Amino acid sequence: MKALRPLTGSLCSVCGEALLSPAFLERSEPLCGLCQRLHPPFEKAVAYGTYDGGLRDLIHLLKFQQVRPAAAVLGRMLAEVITSLESALPCGTIAVIPVPLHARKRAQRGFNQSELITRSALKQIARPERFQELTNVLLRHRETGSQIGLTRHQRRENLRGAFAVTDTERISGRDVLLVDDVFTTGTTASECARVMRRAGAKHVWVATVARTLKVFGTFAVPEQELEEENAGRLAAAAS
Ligand SMILES: [Zn+2]
Repeated sequence: MKALRPLTGSLCSVCGEALLSPAFLERSEPLCGLCQRLHPPFEKAVAYGTYDGGLRDLIHLLKFQQVRPAAAVLGRMLAEVITSLESALPCGTIAVIPVPLHARKRAQRGFNQSELITRSALKQIARPERFQELTNVLLRHRETGSQIGLTRHQRRENLRGAFAVTDTERISGRDVLLVDDVFTTGTTASECARVMRRAGAKHVWVATVARTLKVFGTFAVPEQELEEENAGRLAAAAS
């Protein structure tokens, strides 16, 4: 397996995107251009490493070859990320919500990889009592498919109905940690956060195992797709 590449260097203090411009780096909490323009509906997104090499192999092993033991390794990485975020989280119990899959996709795969990774991580962190996994609160009740080729308006509509909170009482007033395997450009995380905030969640943080970084040129999705997703994220943040 190729070497894993942990995230290093200067990153946006909110979404974790790598920063190259010296103008961004002068601030103590630098922000990327996107976060400067429109603050995301989440407080901060953190990831263990870049979505390439060995880390991408490991995620693919779990998702596409159903090698479940890979979830334990990914869970350990996620546990590290959650631990690094812990000092920034408020007191009290944090509600942990894995990004849901659509029921059909879940049935097809046999599991939701984000759930497996979350459960493994929560078993491996130092203070598990601080976290409580909430299941069946956030639901993906529509498959979104590819966003490529959609206008901003269509994309917004496409995302808008995708996620829903089934039980607002369980999320209202809670501080939430949203967990996913990969953070690409934040469209999914932003939409989930927006829906949960609207249902009364106080704050939302995001932790993922991997993240694509545009500047390294190692992302798994084509440039055009990233552009498209950025447009979707802007639309989600603006609503
Ligand atoms: Zn940012």
